[in-house]
Amino acid sequence: IGTLYIVATPIGNLQDITQRALETFAQVDLIAAEDTRHSGLLLSHYGIKKPFFALHDHNEQQKAGLLVEKLRQGTNIALISDAGTPLISDPGFHLVRQCRQAGIKIVPLPGACAAITALCASGIASDRFCFEGFLPAKSKARRDKLENLAQEDRTLIFYESTHRILDCLADIEAVFSADRYVVLAREITKTWETIHGDLVGLLRQWVAEDPNRTKGEMVLIIEGLPQKQETEFSAQAVKALTLIAQELP
Ligand code: SAM
Repeated sequence: IGTLYIVATPIGNLQDITQRALETFAQVDLIAAEDTRHSGLLLSHYGIKKPFFALHDHNEQQKAGLLVEKLRQGTNIALISDAGTPLISDPGFHLVRQCRQAGIKIVPLPGACAAITALCASGIASDRFCFEGFLPAKSKARRDKLENLAQEDRTLIFYESTHRILDCLADIEAVFSADRYVVLAREITKTWETIHGDLVGLLRQWVAEDPNRTKGEMVLIIEGLPQKQETEFSAQAVKALTLIAQELP
């Protein structure tokens, strides 16, 4: 019986590959990848040539069974995505689930992930956070989603695309208020890496000032809503305090 390796690849800088990832690519029989041409180029950079299997959002549910069968027959497979950690806003979930149900061994190899890398540099609380992936593309659905998250006190992390960033910041400003602190982490690990934080109203203006600031790949980190200070006493506390006050000289 084969093993499924879940292997993270770089999110820009090709040096961000691990020693173990390269050794695993050399060992496995097959590499399951989203875009086999893109991944072929990536792996040839590391001098690796292996058979590929295309597994993407549109065929994953249908093809996962085939990969499970290959694993059952003893094929060792590495799953990669175009960039970063597979399954994180990328295909792989159905395959991993089916493999676990079939009792196939899964070995995860950690590495780059844009959400975590951006969070680490944001200066926003990193002890509790929610990763929300991509917001809906349409403004109405996006605002509805943001409404649901407006009271969240944990840090929020989103992936966003270049042509929606300004509309998205405008919606955050409208739903969360202009003074919510947001960090935009763009082109992380690449030549034009920019990590800029400000109150969302000002951040939106800053991005709008220069078209280059809307370009490339980006992560948004939003500060959670600060928790309200408990100022009101419960009825029970008031009763207790009244009793104590009566006893005082
Ligand atoms: N699986 C990947 C990971 O582990 O980060 C994410 C895949 S998702 C399809 C692609 C999105 O991740 C991009 O649209 C962008 O929001 C974010 N992203 C990927 N690479 C990035 C980078 N170098 N800088 C900033 N954001 C990046």
